[in-house]
Amino acid sequence: MSDIENTPEQVRFADFGLAPEILRALTDQGYVHPTPIQAKAIPILLQGRDVMGAAQTGTGKTASFSLPIIQLLLAHASASMSPARHPVRALVLAPTRELAVQVAENVAAYCKHTPLRSTVVFGGMDMKPQTAALRSGVEIVIATPGRLLDHVEQKNISLGQVQMLVMDEADRMLDMGFLPDLQRIINLLPKKRQNLMFSATFSPEIKKLASSFLTDPITIEVARSNATAEKVSQVVYKVNEDHKRDAVAHILRQREMKQVIVFSNTKIGASRLARGLVTEGMKAAAIHGDKTQQERMQALDSFKKGEIDVLVATDVAARGLDISDLPCVINFDLPYNAEDYVHRIGRTGRAGASGDAISIYSDKDERLLADIEKLIKQTVPRGTLEGFVPGGFRSDERHGERRRDRTAADRSAGERPAFERSSARPSGSAGPRREKVDPWFLKPYEPTRSNATPATASAATPAKPKQKIAALLGGLPKG
Ligand code: AMP
Repeated sequence: MSDIENTPEQVRFADFGLAPEILRALTDQGYVHPTPIQAKAIPILLQGRDVMGAAQTGTGKTASFSLPIIQLLLAHASASMSPARHPVRALVLAPTRELAVQVAENVAAYCKHTPLRSTVVFGGMDMKPQTAALRSGVEIVIATPGRLLDHVEQKNISLGQVQMLVMDEADRMLDMGFLPDLQRIINLLPKKRQNLMFSATFSPEIKKLASSFLTDPITIEVARSNATAEKVSQVVYKVNEDHKRDAVAHILRQREMKQVIVFSNTKIGASRLARGLVTEGMKAAAIHGDKTQQERMQALDSFKKGEIDVLVATDVAARGLDISDLPCVINFDLPYNAEDYVHRIGRTGRAGASGDAISIYSDKDERLLADIEKLIKQTVPRGTLEGFVPGGFRSDERHGERRRDRTAADRSAGERPAFERSSARPSGSAGPRREKVDPWFLKPYEPTRSNATPATASAATPAKPKQKIAALLGGLPKG
C-alpha cells in the first residue's frame, strides 16, 4: 500500500511494543507508520479492552485488530505439530467470502514469522479442505457465519477456547440477515473473552448488537460516525425524472469514465439503464437479483478485467461483492435508505485515493436527499451538468425493445421485490432479514472458473451483440 493515510504524529509500529516477529512481517509489507485507526486501536486492544470501531474497509482496520490478536496469542504459540496444542483462540467473523479471504491473507502475512496458524472458512466451497485445515489445529479462524456453524455442527471445530472475537463489517452482517447465526455463535463462546466490533455505520440495530456482546467498550472512530469518506468528492445533479438516464449517459460520455458502478434502486431500472448505455455504445452490464449466478459472476469478472466499464447494480447485488477502490460511483437513483448512500460511496476513494460520488436526483427525491444529508451531516454540493441536452438517450421503446424488456422476471420485479426491499428498510426496523435476501447474495464472490466468453453487454463487441445483451440482461433461464 502506498498512499494510505498515516497518523499525523508519525507514530511507528515499533512504538507499540509488538513482538519482533510481527515487526518483521510489517517491514516485509513495507508498513512503517500505523494508520489512524491502527494508532488508536492497537494500544487499547493490547490492554485487553473491548472495542467498537467505526471504520470502513480501506482504513487499515484489518491490521488494527490482527496485530494485537497475534501479539496477545503469541504467549500461547506452540511449535508442536499436535492439533491439540493449536486450539482456536481468535475468531474473526466476516459477512462475505471476499472479505474473509482478504482478512485471512492479511493475518497470514502478519503471523508468517510466528508459529501461530490461521485459516479461513466460507460457504459455497467444498468443506473437506476446510475441515482438514481446522482439524490440524489453528489458533486464528476467519469465517463467514453460516459456514462456521456448518463446521461446528460437523464437530470440525471447537469454539470453547476462543478468547478473542472480532465482528468485521457488523452492519453488513446484519443487513445480510446473519443476526441469528451471530447469536448462535456467540452462545458457543466462553463468556470471558475480548470482543471487537467494526462497522462502517452505527444504526440502532448495530448499537443494540454491540451492547449485547461488548463489555465496557471503547469506541474508536477514524471519521465521524456515518461520515462519508473524506476524500470522496460528492455532487448531486437535479434533473427531470425522465432525463435521469440521459444524465448518466452524459456524465459517462463526457468524462470518458472507466470502472464505474452505477447504483439503481430497482432491478428493472438497472436492466434498462445498462441496456440503454450499451445502445449508446458503452460497455455496460447490469447485476441484480434476477440474474443467474453465472451471469452475475461473468459480469463481475468482466468488470474486474476491464472488459466492462460500467456496472449497473442494485444495492443487494453490490453487497458482498468485492468492488472497491473505484474512481467513481454514480447514483442513478438516490437510495431509499440513507445508510446505503454511505455504503455506495464507500466503494470509491478508499485507502487514501480520491474518488467521485455523483448522484442524479429529481424533484420527487428531495426527501431522500434531505435524509442523506442529515445522516452524513453535510450538504452535498449541487452541480450543473455542463453541456447536458436532455433527450439524447435512445430509449428501449424507440428501439422496439419494449417487449423484450418486459421479461417475466422484470414484470415480477414489480416496484421493489421482497429481497430488494430488504435493503431499503428504515434502519430502525428490527428482526432477521435473511429470508428476504436473495440467497445468492449470501454466497460471497466466487471467481469464475469457466473459460466461457463472458456474456458482457458490450457494444464494442461486433459479433452478435444482441444475443450477448440478451444473455446478460435476463434472456437466459436461471441456472
Ligand atoms: P483494510 O482497511 O484493513 O482493508 O486495509 C486497506 C489497505 O491498507 C490494505 O491494502 C492494507 O494492506 C493497507 N494497509 C494497512 N495498514 C497499512 C499501513 N500501516 N501502512 C500502509 N498500508 C497499510
